[in-house]
Amino acid sequence: MLIRDLFGQKKRTLSFEVFPPVREGNLESLFKTVAELKELKPDFISVTYGAGGGTRDKTIEIASRVKNEFGSEALAHLTCVAATRDDIARIVEDMKEQNIENILALRGDPPKGEEKFVRPAGGFGFANELVSFIRGLNGFCIGVAGYPEGHPEASSFEDDLKNLKRKVDAGADFIVTQLFFNNDDFYRFRDRALALKIDVPIIPGIFPILNYKQVLRITELCGAKIPSALGEKLCWLKDKPEDVEKYGIEYAQGQAYDLIRNEVHGLHICTMNQSRAARKIVRELGLTA
Ligand SMILES: Cc1cc2nc3c(=O)[nH]c(=O)nc-3n(C[C@H](O)[C@H](O)[C@H](O)COP(=O)(O)OP(=O)(O)OC[C@H]3O[C@@H](n4cnc5c(N)ncnc54)[C@H](O)[C@@H]3O)c2cc1C
Repeated sequence: MLIRDLFGQKKRTLSFEVFPPVREGNLESLFKTVAELKELKPDFISVTYGAGGGTRDKTIEIASRVKNEFGSEALAHLTCVAATRDDIARIVEDMKEQNIENILALRGDPPKGEEKFVRPAGGFGFANELVSFIRGLNGFCIGVAGYPEGHPEASSFEDDLKNLKRKVDAGADFIVTQLFFNNDDFYRFRDRALALKIDVPIIPGIFPILNYKQVLRITELCGAKIPSALGEKLCWLKDKPEDVEKYGIEYAQGQAYDLIRNEVHGLHICTMNQSRAARKIVRELGLTA
């Protein structure tokens, strides 16, 4: 099913994000998580695309099993990193063969050790080019990334929004946002996007904090801010991992509750390949269909 068709049918979608594990042996444990997530009746499960190296091929394999074996709708992420147009065409063809109908089209980050993203020879330099290319292949529903705090490389918040509009004008059907910990950032982003006539559904990305070091590493990578009160509380709890997780999940629950009250089109929960937090958030807020 095309994810864009869900938006007309439902008040709000529920989705989860998983990533291909680096170690082969962890694949079965991921599928155990997928089975647990499926019990929560998500509208779709998204599978990230490795920044480089061995996990890339796994995205299609995992998305295919999510869809064809578990019967959940799949959203496969795809980036422009180190790929020519022909490479991308082949990957998209593979997706089609595997019955994958939804793609999150991304530029990707610069490869490790490189500071700037350089357009690969014969490839794409920005996500809007990838969107146009996939749109030309017909049949896919396309999502793109949005940044409530602005993309770290953007010259300004407003320029970044204009670039987001390019992606929508190129044919994107919906937007999934970067994780954020201050809902006001999301509301400001949504309002500004609407003002620019970006009129596709915008789904907030929610990141339940499970681990102190992990959240520091991830926010450093993606540039999301940790509000000072949250940062202080996490620092206070950091030697008690169970308390960090308990507080992290409660915080995410609070964000999700507020987002629902503010009529978001969906909730997209990053699971870090574990179902605990998703289960608690979904059950406590009564989100399961
Ligand atoms: C929901 C979500 C999922 C993600 N999943 C993955 C994943 O699976 N794998 C992965 O490697 N990374 C993933 N990322 C990270 C993403 O690849 C990085 O944030 C990357 O740096 C930007 O990708 P993008 O698609 O937003 O790029 P773009 O939309 O191309 O934007 C990149 C930068 O260029 C600017 N820009 C865009 N278009 C133009 C233009 N035409 N002219 C001039 N400037 C322009 C933008 O303002 C921005 O600063 C994800 C991010 C999000 C929010």
